[in-house]
Amino acid sequence: MLKNKTALVTGSTSGIGLGIAKSLARQGANIVLNGFGDVEAAQAEIAALGVQVLYHGADMSKPEEIEAMMAAAAARFGRVDVLVNNAGIQHVAPVEEFPLARWDSIIAINLSSAFHTTRLALPAMKAANWGRIINVASAHGLVASAQKAAYVAAKHGVVGLTKVVALETATTGVTCNAICPGWVLTPLVQKQLDDKAAAQGISNEEATQQLLREKEPSLQFTTPEELGELAVFFCSPAGNNVRGVAWAMDGGWTAQ
Ligand code: NAD
Repeated sequence: MLKNKTALVTGSTSGIGLGIAKSLARQGANIVLNGFGDVEAAQAEIAALGVQVLYHGADMSKPEEIEAMMAAAAARFGRVDVLVNNAGIQHVAPVEEFPLARWDSIIAINLSSAFHTTRLALPAMKAANWGRIINVASAHGLVASAQKAAYVAAKHGVVGLTKVVALETATTGVTCNAICPGWVLTPLVQKQLDDKAAAQGISNEEATQQLLREKEPSLQFTTPEELGELAVFFCSPAGNNVRGVAWAMDGGWTAQ
């Protein structure tokens, strides 16, 4: 379905971003990978699916590096057809103790980076009259949790940005939508589990059960593969008129 198209997924060396990149690659899209950590392993996983891969190590907190990444993607593949804004970080602290530098970096990486990639990708998408912008928000884009001020503010912001871009592209072949996952067992959540287990002196298994029971009625994690298939749906012809939604895949979290 996405043969001869290019998908750029921010923060795609791990977790949800890698899962979405793999689902899009299975549909034939060439992939622009981004993120830190085990870059070579992520590149190899994508290349094994028979598509071309370009890695760019832009730091999503830096607008000038984002511009360089978008330019590199256009130079290699012509344009970005599918943009997935996924890079994100977390920090947990009460609002009056929230470290200023963490606030700034969460807003920059989880929210402002999506503004920058979107404004840079849109002209070519509009010229081609086809494009998909998929913003990985969160259940925390729809409801709040204590101690996550920056993350919840950024994710609500992403949902708002999604709606504005959907309206501004509504008469074109470009769509913009958000995905709102509940808990997904990635390094980002594993750290929260480890902290919870250590703070309460409980096992990782007990911490996992507690975490799920607190928020997610299904008592199950959503998987990167499931989220990847939702991204594929947004890219399909059936998604042509799906515009500005914040689509929860959260085991019932936000239905409560
Ligand atoms: P993860 O830690 O596994 O992956 C995060 C990715 O972002 C990695 O590739 C990392 O290298 C990259 N990244 C981090 N900082 C970056 C920066 N400054 N510049 C470029 N890349 C950077 O986390 P994940 O759980 O897969 O999270 C991916 C997205 O999904 C995030 O936006 C997160 O908020 C969102 N999300 C996660 C969950 C969950 O339960 N895991 C739930 C809802 C939403």
